Amino acid sequence: MNRRIEVLTAEAAPDCPRCGGPGLLHSRVPHTWTNAAGRRVRGYGGVVLCPECDADKPHAAPLITWFHVNGQADDGDEEFVRLLVAWAAGVFVPMLDERALEAEVEQRRRGGL
Ligand SMILES: [Zn+2]
Repeated sequence: MNRRIEVLTAEAAPDCPRCGGPGLLHSRVPHTWTNAAGRRVRGYGGVVLCPECDADKPHAAPLITWFHVNGQADDGDEEFVRLLVAWAAGVFVPMLDERALEAEVEQRRRGGL
């Protein structure tokens, strides 16, 4: 399945939903799941790259290091894009957990979006 991950480098990243600290990067991951009625549903999950929470994750650490060195997202930078793709591939796995998705949707509602 072809999944495109949309990384919102142009926007300021929101605060990390896990620790409340400032996030480095925000991405939206499109995904499809089957709801309780057995229908296929498409949606987006938001993922924030956090320098604290993600520091020891193998797929995120190199990208965090890149930010420490370069400061800001630069999608014209080859190394950045490579690390971004690796990170995006890594964040995707937990998105397949429907319960995690519901928790996030609920969180978003509370946030008034
Ligand atoms: Zn965090």
